[in-house]
Amino acid sequence: MSKAQETVLEIDLKALEHNFEYLKSKLQKDTKFLAVVKAFAYGSDANEIANYLQDLGVDYFAVAYINEGVALRNAGITKPILVLHPLAVNFKTLIEYCLEPSIYNAKILQEFISVASHEKQVEYPIHIKFNTGLNRLGFWHNDIDFIQNTLSQTKTIKVESIFSHLAASEDLNEKAFTLNQIKTFKIITEKLTKAIGYKPLLHICNTSGILNYPEAHLNMVRSGIGLYGFGNSEKENKNLKPIASLKTIISQIHTIEKGESVGYNRAYIGDSIQKTATLPIGHADGIGRIYGNEKGFVTINGQQAPIIGNVCMDMIMVNITNIDCEEGDEVIIFDANSTAETLAETANTISYELITSISQRVKRIFLQ
Ligand SMILES: *Cc1c(COP(=O)(O)O)cnc(C)c1O
Repeated sequence: MSKAQETVLEIDLKALEHNFEYLKSKLQKDTKFLAVVKAFAYGSDANEIANYLQDLGVDYFAVAYINEGVALRNAGITKPILVLHPLAVNFKTLIEYCLEPSIYNAKILQEFISVASHEKQVEYPIHIKFNTGLNRLGFWHNDIDFIQNTLSQTKTIKVESIFSHLAASEDLNEKAFTLNQIKTFKIITEKLTKAIGYKPLLHICNTSGILNYPEAHLNMVRSGIGLYGFGNSEKENKNLKPIASLKTIISQIHTIEKGESVGYNRAYIGDSIQKTATLPIGHADGIGRIYGNEKGFVTINGQQAPIIGNVCMDMIMVNITNIDCEEGDEVIIFDANSTAETLAETANTISYELITSISQRVKRIFLQ
């Protein structure tokens, strides 16, 4: 690992492989693995990550939107791609790129059949999504008859899978709620598979579902955050390796007198002589203003330096008064030791938000 000379997001593909193998070791041999690579593979790089996982033998991919699936096809992904939140305006493109829609209500089902039949499709794979308690997207239990009727009248589509999403799989205080979601899903899928007369794949588990509800792995699991190295619990974080390290360097060091201010709006005022470092990373790179004013910190030569004053668009200033460092030294924003989860907690948010915020301006580097 060479020292950073600019702001970079270093992505460790061996760590990705480790996480994939760890999650897979939790599954039965015949349970399929779907890798969730939405939002640039959680802020890393969807094309690189998906190709690497495709070579490792992942069965399925999922993205949120159709344009994300198009990008994966253009990058050489040939495995099936589930689009979790397709919008009807792009259905023609979805079919053109052999992407598979999640179908979550009557309106979108009818719109999809209409476009697919116009495009002369036969048995086009779709995924029926049920709401079992998240109350976000999904058919309801009492839509089964409607789905069955609609399906019986067309050869245009075929149900490749039936799925649902857990609302609180990482929260063991909500175990009763989660078990009820799993039970509801089983009741729904038994009815629907009987009605349609064939057996689509069934899946309900995200990463924490995989780790906490082995009885609910069914035919396939969908993992995002676990692949990127976070297990939503202290115990599982130890078994996984964060794949991304965000690094930068010190551009300039200043010494300020007592009473002098740092940054916009003079938000920080020194209470003694202080040493500050200016770093080439700001809110346009994904370090939100919420991390300013001594909430967040960076690590320089093994020591924590709080972010002082307001985060600028392209820069932050940190307090290095007690840190032995020079201009040009490497700075860790987060890595496998000082994790994105720890930094996210300083802003009262979660690893998912911090890592998916790292903007496309930050150069990605891949370690094999
Ligand atoms: C994002 C998403 C996942 C992945 O969840 P993780 O907690 O990151 O594993 C799985 N399923 C659906 C429907 C999602 O939207």
